[in-house]
Amino acid sequence: MPTGPSLIDRARLQDEFLELVSISSLSRREGAIARRLEVILKGMGADVSVDDAGERIGGDTGNLLARFTGTAPSAPAFLLSCHMDTVGPAAAIHPVVEGDIVRTDGTSVLGGDDKAGIVAVLEAIRVLRERTIPHGDVEVLLTISEESGLMGAKHFDAGRLRARRGLVLDVDGVSELITRAPAANRMTFSVHGWSAHAGMCPEQGLSAIQMTADAIAAMRLGRLDAETTANLGVIQGGLAGNIVPDRVVVRGETRSLDPAKLARQTEHMRQCFEAAVASRSVRVGGREHQARVEVEVHHQYDRLDVPDGAGIVTLVQSAAAALGRACPTRATGGGSDANVFTTRDIEVANLACGMREIHTVNEWVDVKDLVLTAELLVEAVRQNAAA
Ligand SMILES: [Zn+2]
Repeated sequence: MPTGPSLIDRARLQDEFLELVSISSLSRREGAIARRLEVILKGMGADVSVDDAGERIGGDTGNLLARFTGTAPSAPAFLLSCHMDTVGPAAAIHPVVEGDIVRTDGTSVLGGDDKAGIVAVLEAIRVLRERTIPHGDVEVLLTISEESGLMGAKHFDAGRLRARRGLVLDVDGVSELITRAPAANRMTFSVHGWSAHAGMCPEQGLSAIQMTADAIAAMRLGRLDAETTANLGVIQGGLAGNIVPDRVVVRGETRSLDPAKLARQTEHMRQCFEAAVASRSVRVGGREHQARVEVEVHHQYDRLDVPDGAGIVTLVQSAAAALGRACPTRATGGGSDANVFTTRDIEVANLACGMREIHTVNEWVDVKDLVLTAELLVEAVRQNAAA
C-alpha cells in the first residue's frame, strides 16, 4: 500500500498543531483544550465521552475517550493515547514558525509534549477515513495530568477499552519505539533533631542539618548503573543561623528498569538516614531527646517492559519497514501513561512523536517529524486490521 506520495495533509497537520499548542493546558487545567478536542473528534465521527477523573483529582475536565467504529469488522481494536496537559511556563503560548520548525517566543514551553502526538493521531485517523483504508475500532484516549504523576491514566477505568493493544505517543525523537521505562519511587525524609541556642548551649541541640548531611554523604546518588538512577531534589529546614535546627525535610526519588534494584536503592536511601540519626540523643533538663527520621515511600508507577518480539513491536516495525524506514526499540529514563496502561493488561509501547527539548522554553518541533509520525500511524492501524 504505502510508498509513493504521502497521504498526509501537511498544511492541515501544521495548522492544527499551531491551534492546539496555542490553547494553554496546564495540568488540572485541560478544560479548554478538552472541549476543543471533543468538537474536533465528534466532527470526525467519533463517539466521545469524558470520565470523572478530573473531579477526583481537582481538575476542570476528565480523560477524553473517543471511539471510531472500525470499517473492518473482524479487526482488533487499537488504542492511541496522548496526554492533554503540559508543564509550565505555559499560561500563554505564542508559537513561531521558521520553515519546518515550530518553537515559541521563548517565554513558554511549546507543548509539543504532547500535542505533537495528538495532531499525529488526529491526522492519521482523518486519512484512514478519507481514503477508506480498512481499520478496526480505533480508541483515542486523551488523558489529563500526565505531567503531575500520571494522574489521569491512574484514574481511568481501563475496563472501558475494547483495545488490548496500542500506542502511547509521548516521547522525544522520531521513528523510535520506547519499550522499556523505569519503575519509580518518590521519597520524603523528615529528620527530627532538637533545637538549642547555637552560641550559648549548642551541646543541648541535635542538628537536623548535620544529621542530614551525614546521611547524604553516605548515599549513592545520580546514575547508579545503566538501569538505575537516584536523586535528592529538595532540602528544606532550619530557621536562623543562630539556632541549632531541629527539623529538615528532604525529597527525592529513585528509578530503575529492574524492580529488585529499585527496592534495593530505596532501602539504601532509608538506611542512610536511619544510620545518621541512630543513637543520636541529647539530655536537656533531665529529659532524653532521641533523634529520629520518618521515611515515606510512594510507589509512583511500575516499569514498562515490552519484549522485542511482542505484537505491538512487530506491528510498528513492520509498518515502518513498509514506509522504507526503521523504528528501533529503546529504553528511556522517564515514565509515561504507558507505565500505567501496561499494568492494566494492555500491550502498549511509547512511540516517539517529534517533540524536542521538552520541558524547556527552547522546546521545538519539526513539522516533517509530525508527518512521519502520522504516516507511521496510518500504516500501523492499517496493518493491524490486515493481520
Ligand atoms: Zn509528555
